Amino acid sequence: MPVYTLPELPYDYSALAPVISPEIIELHHDKHHAAYVKGANDTLEQLAEARDKESWGSINGLEKNLAFHLSGHILHSIYWQNMTGPKDGGGEPLATDGVGALADAIKESFGSFAGFKAQLTKAAATTQGSGWGVLAYEPLSGRLIVEQVYDHQGNVGQGATPILVFDAWEHAFYLQYKNQKVDFIDAMWAVVNWQDVARRYEAAASRANTLLLAP
Ligand code: MN
Repeated sequence: MPVYTLPELPYDYSALAPVISPEIIELHHDKHHAAYVKGANDTLEQLAEARDKESWGSINGLEKNLAFHLSGHILHSIYWQNMTGPKDGGGEPLATDGVGALADAIKESFGSFAGFKAQLTKAAATTQGSGWGVLAYEPLSGRLIVEQVYDHQGNVGQGATPILVFDAWEHAFYLQYKNQKVDFIDAMWAVVNWQDVARRYEAAASRANTLLLAP
């Protein structure tokens, strides 16, 4: 039995059009995300084999592969849920839509929604090579931060929980937006599912801080 499995998309391939084409969604989910799931499962098996044989020659590569594939699986699983069709998505989180706690946290952490939006847009659009722009709940401060993630696993603060993720890898946009990564990231805001982001914020914020436990 594999440890990790590919989650179903919460909508059909065409649900995010015209912001993201059905062709991109199908390939991105069925091929790219599936490969990270397989990679994470395969790496766990290879690590078990290494333990059995007490053969540690590949340990550095295996640990890196585990971080890469597992983080790829986690980020994509959040990514699909973070989006909804342009009819229901986009705009900004408002108390009148029942997402006031998230709206307040964004204002407290970034000064304003506009400031937050500008920072996440810049972080995602200026990734060098492959990466993500991520809004995360940081439990030591109880605040939200923006992270510019390298690949799937680098440049992150330990223990912060991603709640809104923008995939800035070329496979996320190239078939439709070509080299215009900035246009893709700008367009992404129209399909953000704020209800989902708020649900993730509230779950993360209500969890006890388990990082720096007093003796
Ligand atoms: Mn991706």
